[in-house]
Amino acid sequence: MRYNAQVFALLAERLLRKSGVQILYGTQICSVIRKDDRVEAIVVENKSGRSAIPARMFVDATGDADLFSLAGAPTALYGKGNILAAWYYETLNGRTTLHMVGAADVLPNEKDTIVPDAIEIERISGLDAAEVSEAIQHGHGVILEKFLEKGGVSEEHSLATIATIPQLRMTRRIIGACTLDEADDHKTFGDSIGMTGDWRKRGPAFEIPFGTLHAPSLSNVLAAGRCISVTDAMWDVARVIPPAIVTGEAAGLAAALFDDLGNADVEKLQKRLCGQHVRLHLEDVL
Ligand SMILES: Cc1cc2nc3c(=O)[nH]c(=O)nc-3n(C[C@H](O)[C@H](O)[C@H](O)COP(=O)(O)OP(=O)(O)OC[C@H]3O[C@@H](n4cnc5c(N)ncnc54)[C@H](O)[C@@H]3O)c2cc1C
Repeated sequence: MRYNAQVFALLAERLLRKSGVQILYGTQICSVIRKDDRVEAIVVENKSGRSAIPARMFVDATGDADLFSLAGAPTALYGKGNILAAWYYETLNGRTTLHMVGAADVLPNEKDTIVPDAIEIERISGLDAAEVSEAIQHGHGVILEKFLEKGGVSEEHSLATIATIPQLRMTRRIIGACTLDEADDHKTFGDSIGMTGDWRKRGPAFEIPFGTLHAPSLSNVLAAGRCISVTDAMWDVARVIPPAIVTGEAAGLAAALFDDLGNADVEKLQKRLCGQHVRLHLEDVL
């Protein structure tokens, strides 16, 4: 499915506002206040300075499991690291084209699948500010060079857009109550909260257990998106947009329904998800 990312972002923002969500742009979580197995508040920094936001439940959708890590919960790192990914849209004579100058959605360990324009630098963890900034600037340098090769800015030639956030795929993930692996292809999980395929090939289908969204050491923090609990082998499958949507919906709903994730009534969550037309099990679609 293709969609216009900018319009999608504006529509998603409008939906959040209509639902009464307060959005704080430019806000970074930098610490947590934890008591026993509960996070009582997250500490954030933004234009207003530093403040604490208390809540009954939290969802860590940072992609890097930052909240879990700051709360001291066990996490795992992607050993191989990320290769540089950069892209730009160029408009030339009325035609706008996407150019990949780093590795696109390819397996990071398979050099021969990297697109021809690929630029390579040492792999980056994605968790070190200086390292990430250096990689971004390296990508910017290559983009500028490639753009100027076709002439400067004119009425016919412009750099339409470039990435606005670091292009990272696998960084840090939670170690959850359950960890999904490639070998779980076509396996049924009683606590499934939805399903995903494998974007790289036809065939595999995975039920995603609720246990991949929370960790035994924290009773009120859920993970959603690319930092849920999976093995290294499964990460490349689970880090993409469709499973991020599935886990995001389930984590948000679970945060609304439960107070203690270790003793959650998963059937209640599943019933609500089914009511929202989520297919939980492979037998529902096969
Ligand atoms: C180059 C590239 C191409 C891709 N192409 C595709 C594709 O074609 N199809 C596909 O399905 N997937 C694709 N992906 C994967 C896709 O980008 C991810 O699936 C998706 O972005 C993961 O969503 P997420 O919400 O889990 O994490 P992210 O998109 O990484 O979002 C995390 C958010 O949390 C914020 N954040 C991080 N840390 C903090 C903090 N400490 N405090 C506050 N906020 C924080 C970040 O700013 C960001 O907004 C691609 C990825 C890359 C890098």
